[in-house]
Amino acid sequence: MNGTILALNAGSSSLKFRLYEVQGDQFYLILRGQFDGVNENPHLAVKEADGKEICNIDLKIGEHMQEDMLERIFDVIKPYTAKSPLQAVGHRVLHGGGRFADPVLLNDEIVDYLETLIPMGPLHQPANLASVKLFRRIRPELPQVACFDTAFHVNIDERAARYPIPLEYEAKGYRRFGFHGLSYTYIADRLREISDYLVRKRTVVAHLGSGSSMCAMRDGKAIDTTMGLTPLGGLMMGTRSGTVDPGLVLTLMEKENLSPAEIKHMLYYKSGLLGVSGISGDLRVLMSSDDPNAKKAIDLFVFRACRELSIMVATMQGIESLVFSAGIGENSSVIRKLICERAAWLGIQIDDEANNANAEIISSPESRVEVRVIPTDEEIVLAKQTASVIAESAKAGTSPVMA
Ligand code: ADP
Repeated sequence: MNGTILALNAGSSSLKFRLYEVQGDQFYLILRGQFDGVNENPHLAVKEADGKEICNIDLKIGEHMQEDMLERIFDVIKPYTAKSPLQAVGHRVLHGGGRFADPVLLNDEIVDYLETLIPMGPLHQPANLASVKLFRRIRPELPQVACFDTAFHVNIDERAARYPIPLEYEAKGYRRFGFHGLSYTYIADRLREISDYLVRKRTVVAHLGSGSSMCAMRDGKAIDTTMGLTPLGGLMMGTRSGTVDPGLVLTLMEKENLSPAEIKHMLYYKSGLLGVSGISGDLRVLMSSDDPNAKKAIDLFVFRACRELSIMVATMQGIESLVFSAGIGENSSVIRKLICERAAWLGIQIDDEANNANAEIISSPESRVEVRVIPTDEEIVLAKQTASVIAESAKAGTSPVMA
């Protein structure tokens, strides 16, 4: 495939995009852009691949905000797509449910199905699908591909995938799925690229960002992961609780008279680092605070991350390699050190100098577990998956345009 691909990663309050030039099997980054503060103070920043800033502006919140944002993306990419035509848009879609693992060319019927999964991803799925529908309206001629965050985990250990609930619900598809799959795909590919030997190791990848999860993998394949049916389970996150006793939810409903919608709001938006600190869900803010509740929140984040780590290790019956990634994992030497020190019983020893320098390998030579920092890149995975779907549909002679 030759031309350009737009990779779109729509979150609840941000919209990230990248434009890639594709020449055969080579991908070249052209632009990276991000809308932040979408619901309060929208801001757009766009840079070329070499870091040259081409746009950095505050936007007004309008009635048709989403549509305005997409139109702005088209304005920004126009000079580039005039030279190399835009072939498709690749969307990060949180949940593929029981039906989709491989990336898929979108049509209305598939979008309808993906909408039924919104209760299992209320923070992301609506934003993901809103941009699909808007693109369809304003650029109906453009093929759109969905790339699923659940896909990487589709073959996890059967026991890891199951909830111990009655068969009739299992049959309806209530099972553990797992998320951050685009990020884990990138890391697995990187491990393989670094060495065949490395990718064979029993590895836990810690994707620590606003949303955090861990994945137990070997041979580049997922065996277990910390999130489940929804991206609410597992580690404590920026504003999400992570795993809680399901009885907590029932008790809150019965004793506090909270509705399902109120509990959902509390567990997705008001918990985690924000809930415990009462200050912020952003780790950097908590790190720079003297408030004892900020310290408690960080301490609990580390405690619970280590607990989840031990579950991943138990599933694999061991660990030989640990990888930190995403906003916190890539940038916070403090959190990496705290986690590694607490996990010393697993044979993990960190090298302070390497850790402080954000080096590629941060374990000491004596460590039984090799610890690495690998910056993730979900957008390149989006672009590659999208290009492969478009190439397949060209081969099959089908029209890639959304029907
Ligand atoms: P997402 O893509 O899910 O929005 P990110 O992967 O960008 O999230 O991670 C955001 C988190 O990373 C925030 O909690 C932020 O404070 C944290 N973070 C980013 N840079 C640093 C840093 N230099 N030190 C500590 N935390 C950081």
